[in-house]
Amino acid sequence: MSEQRLAALRSRIAQAELDGLLVSSPANRRYISGFTGSAGLLLITAQRAALLSDFRYRTQGAQEAPACEFHMVHQTNAYGALLAELVPAWGLRRLGFEAAPMSYLEYRRLCDWLKAVELVPTEGIVEELRQSKDRAEIELLRRAIAITDEALAATLPLIRPTMRERELAWELEKAMRERGAEGVAFEIIVAAGPNGARPHARAGDDLLGTGRPVVIDCGARYKGYHADMTRTFILGEADEQFERIYRIVLEAQERAERNIKAGISGNAADALARDYIAEQGYGEAFGHSLGHGVGLEIHEGPWLRRGVETPVPAGAVVSVEPGIYLEDWGGVRIEDLVLVGDEGVEILTGSPKQHPVIPC
Ligand code: ZN
Ligand code: ZN
Repeated sequence: MSEQRLAALRSRIAQAELDGLLVSSPANRRYISGFTGSAGLLLITAQRAALLSDFRYRTQGAQEAPACEFHMVHQTNAYGALLAELVPAWGLRRLGFEAAPMSYLEYRRLCDWLKAVELVPTEGIVEELRQSKDRAEIELLRRAIAITDEALAATLPLIRPTMRERELAWELEKAMRERGAEGVAFEIIVAAGPNGARPHARAGDDLLGTGRPVVIDCGARYKGYHADMTRTFILGEADEQFERIYRIVLEAQERAERNIKAGISGNAADALARDYIAEQGYGEAFGHSLGHGVGLEIHEGPWLRRGVETPVPAGAVVSVEPGIYLEDWGGVRIEDLVLVGDEGVEILTGSPKQHPVIPC
């Protein structure tokens, strides 16, 4: 565990006038404690930090989260009885919990076990700390991104018009794993022709074909950190429509990359690309937001999205991914990850994007 992360969390807990916080979101739990197991709960107070988990994790929990006392629950996910012992013993009267990951049923049970305690729902306390990456996190993200770049470069020579979308997806996944990925960051999207008009299409049985856009959206996961990259190609020859749309999307993306810096609002960042696409007549065809943070989750804050007035902090790693989608034709999306700094961004994704035509 990073002592800095725990210290930052404790100051937020104090600001919220809480005696302690229960952390149940897996990504938040890992960020604060280092524990990577699938089940567990942190109880963090000004003085103490505990990891509650079950028999399966008694060794791993102590190893990965050395700064936390380990308390074992006697039945998987039965945290109530243990909390009913710890919370009064530690003198906690106002206890925060994370509202988003808790189900109504879990909440009801928690209330039953902690009748004398004031349970306070909180939102985004750890998520906000996670927006700005520390040095160790940036190194892990760089590695995940490098694996993704290398995997795409290794896979491109295999591409043929007779290849199926899911064959290409599998070649990419293999190439990532061979280069040290622990898995894919999300199910790889390979969408040929009209399939590409759906931004989150799955890789299916369709052939890549020629003369139509092929959208590839992929990322490696490395030590819990996610990469995310989209490139769009066309096999054979590009027609005038592809050339025009590709140039518009690329220019929109580069405008955003040139002008995003720490302090810009999510709304203003989104507008950098959106206004240009709209000026070119395709405003209705860009139906999603410009980008999102990445880290321990593939989609996390900050959000580069219309209506988001909160500023993007220095140290955030965000995607910049404008697209144009036309029903019956397909889509073009180009996505990089960038590290946000006070003066501008560093583009972390290295895969080329100037020459989308693959001759065959
Ligand atoms: Zn993506
Ligand atoms: Zn993305």
